[in-house]
Amino acid sequence: MTLLRHTHLEPQTGTALIVRQGESLEIIDPEGEQVSDLVSFADADRSEWLSSGRTIDYANTIYVTAGHILYSNRSRPMWTIVEDTVGRHDFLLTPCSLEMFRILYKTTGHHPSCFENLARSLEPFGIVPDAIPTTLNIFMNVDVLPSGELRILPPRSRAGDRVVLRAEMDLVVGITACSAELSNNGRFKPIDVRLHGDRAARATGSLAGPNGVPAAPAAE
Ligand SMILES: [Zn+2]
Repeated sequence: MTLLRHTHLEPQTGTALIVRQGESLEIIDPEGEQVSDLVSFADADRSEWLSSGRTIDYANTIYVTAGHILYSNRSRPMWTIVEDTVGRHDFLLTPCSLEMFRILYKTTGHHPSCFENLARSLEPFGIVPDAIPTTLNIFMNVDVLPSGELRILPPRSRAGDRVVLRAEMDLVVGITACSAELSNNGRFKPIDVRLHGDRAARATGSLAGPNGVPAAPAAE
């Protein structure tokens, strides 16, 4: 497989892209301790989405890692995790949002958020904000205490750590460099996203917009 696309997400930004069945999406934390939120939708029917609940049901763990299959709301495999150099990600919490910052942290005014970055990036693909479900929060470190209380800790990822996901169907994917202070040990860093595959027959145009799909810009 060859590198089809490399997107460097600046801190507190996001993007969206098409990933075809059999292609691999590599999510890299270049500096360490940085979360990346990911959501996906079936390209053929965007009312089918990556489901935290279904995936946790079938994996029988809240901590997904290499070897686990990530399922849609229709219980079809969307992704297989083929590589994971960290082994701790969260699939319980929703993407950070302006409302979350206001409710939990009494933030006033605007605050960048994964939800806003996902909504903006997915809009060209016809996906509305209300369709954005619980995200796979790559590198996010959430401990569950015996009481059920959650504790958000600094990510365990170090510079260069990565997760590789193989697409099991054609997908529309939204992905961010997370904007929440607590999840990222107080400092916002970039995320690198690399798409690997073989589109030799189709990749005659720009790498930024293969298959005629609109190339969503990395958010400002
Ligand atoms: Zn976030």
